[in-house]
Order: sequence, then C-alpha cells, then structure tokens
Amino acid sequence: MAARLKEVDVVIVGLGWTGGILAKEFSAAGLKVVALERGGPRSTEADFGLPSVRDELRYQFRHDLMMNTQKDTLTIRNNPSQEALPMRRLGSFLPGEGVGGAGVHWNGHTWRWTDMEFKVRSLYEERYGKGYIPADMTIQDWGISYAELEPYYDRFEYVAGISGKAGNLKGKVVPGGNPFEGPRAREYPLPPLAPSLACELFDKASRNGGYHPSRGRPRTRRGPIPIRTARSSARASTAAIASASAARRMQKAART
Ligand SMILES: Cc1cc2nc3c(=O)[nH]c(=O)nc-3n(C[C@H](O)[C@H](O)[C@H](O)COP(=O)(O)OP(=O)(O)OC[C@H]3O[C@@H](n4cnc5c(N)ncnc54)[C@H](O)[C@@H]3O)c2cc1C
Repeated sequence: MAARLKEVDVVIVGLGWTGGILAKEFSAAGLKVVALERGGPRSTEADFGLPSVRDELRYQFRHDLMMNTQKDTLTIRNNPSQEALPMRRLGSFLPGEGVGGAGVHWNGHTWRWTDMEFKVRSLYEERYGKGYIPADMTIQDWGISYAELEPYYDRFEYVAGISGKAGNLKGKVVPGGNPFEGPRAREYPLPPLAPSLACELFDKASRNGGYHPSRGRPRTRRGPIPIRTARSSARASTAAIASASAARRMQKAART
C-alpha cells in the first residue's frame, strides 16, 4: 500500500544540479521541500575516498554513478520509418544517477560564453550579408545578451566555488586572466587550481619535444600557461555534494 507522507510545499523529482539549486532556493524562501531521487545517496568518504574511488570495475565498467540503461534510457531511430529502439549503451555523456546527478561525475568546467556567442546569426549577417547563412540552416541568436546573463554566471560561480583568474573586471583588462572574456562584476570566488602532476609531466614532455606553445618564455610559479580555467574546485565545488547532504536532511525531515 502506498505510504502517505507529510505534506510539503514542493516536491522535486530528481536531485541533480537543477533539483539541488531549486531545493536550495525554495528552502531559502521558506518553503518545505522534499526531493525524490531514484539513485542512492553519495558521500565523499564512501564514494570518492581512496581506495574505493580507484575501483575501475565499479565506476568505469559498471557505471556505478550513471543512469542504469537497462531500467531507463532514451530511444533513438535514424529515420522516421524506423521504430525507435532503446539505447542500452550510451556514449561519453552518460546521465547521472544518485543524489547530485551528473554533477557528481562531471568535469567541472564552467566556461562563460562571450557576448559574440549569443548573437552569431546577426554577426555573420552583419559581416557577410543576409544571404550568407543558408535558408535551411536554423542557426539563431539566443535573444539574450552576455550582460543580461552576467549576474547569473556570477551567482552560479559563487554557489559552486569555481576556481580561476579574471581577465576582464568591469570592462578593464587585468593581467593573468583571459583578456578575451566578457566583463565580470568581480573576481572568481577561488584562485586558479595548482597544476596537477599530469599537467607538470605534460608540460615537461612538450618542452622536451619542442612542442610547447610558449617555449623559450620563462616558467612562472604556476607554469607557462597558468591554469585559470573556470573549473570547480575539488573541495568547494559540488553543490551536488552540498545537495547530497541537503537531501539527507530533507529525507530525515520527511521521515520525522
Ligand atoms: C561525463 C559528463 C561530464 C560533464 N561535464 C560537464 C562540465 O565540465 N561542465 C558543465 O557545465 N557540464 C558538464 N556536464 C553536464 C552537466 O553535468 C549536466 O548538464 C548537469 O549535471 C545536469 O543537471 P540536471 O540536474 O539537469 O540533471 P542530472 O544531473 O541528470 O540529474 C537528474 C537527476 O534526476 C534523477 N531522476 C531522473 N528521473 C527520475 C525519476 N523518475 N525519479 C527520481 N529521480 C529521477 C536522476 O537519477 C538524476 O540524479 C557533464 C555531463 C556528463 C555526463
């Protein structure tokens, strides 16, 4: 028989980034929120600590953090005359499963677009003429500008604890960051990541092989090309993890 749980204001189905952010915002607005997640809970020690995190069988081959495509998947057909069939083996972008969703195993890159990318159609037409884009090509402007989105980029980066170095603060190009990026209201919440061993080894190998893009230039503390990527930092990132503990609290609250 179906269990009747306490009534709440909001029920969120699926607790990935989207559900996690909504849960946080609704809770902060004073609403009672419950999130239903089809996958299991995740915790730093149990799922991402050594040595279990190196379990290739569990993660790499059995896709422990990913959607179980035997239970649920997308269907696909190559043309309208075919019957759409379920795909049981997906490619590189495997949807997540469990508290935190795909945010638990994503790459953590959160690049901002430049203003140009929001209006590619207009810019092409302006430069090459109206007939440049073929009539059957559906490319469109987004109808929103970088300036309008900037406060939201900023807010997300501070929620997620993104690492990096600004190259353009309020329209002023600043040294050390990407000078081509759109103007930021403020610095990244966290400094650039230190280079990993893999990065160092690659740097060394490319120098020895004569392939390095800035060979001949002096090495800086963080290497010749400072890592200023918009990258979520291991510790501060996953609001997904934050949402994991939020979810546990919610589950507990729903039970009491
Ligand atoms: C391998 C990989 C790398 C990525 N790298 C990046 C990156 O570097 N930068 C970037 O910006 N984006 C990246 N992405 C994309 C990004 O992770 C996703 O866009 C984002 O996590 C999606 O969040 P979501 O909450 O919308 O969905 P999901 O994270 O998929 O969350 C949906 C949740 O809903 C649950 N659910 C689904 N159906 C039900 C149901 N019926 N009942 C209960 N629960 C349900 C699922 O189990 C899941 O936990 C990457 C994605 C993948 C897969």
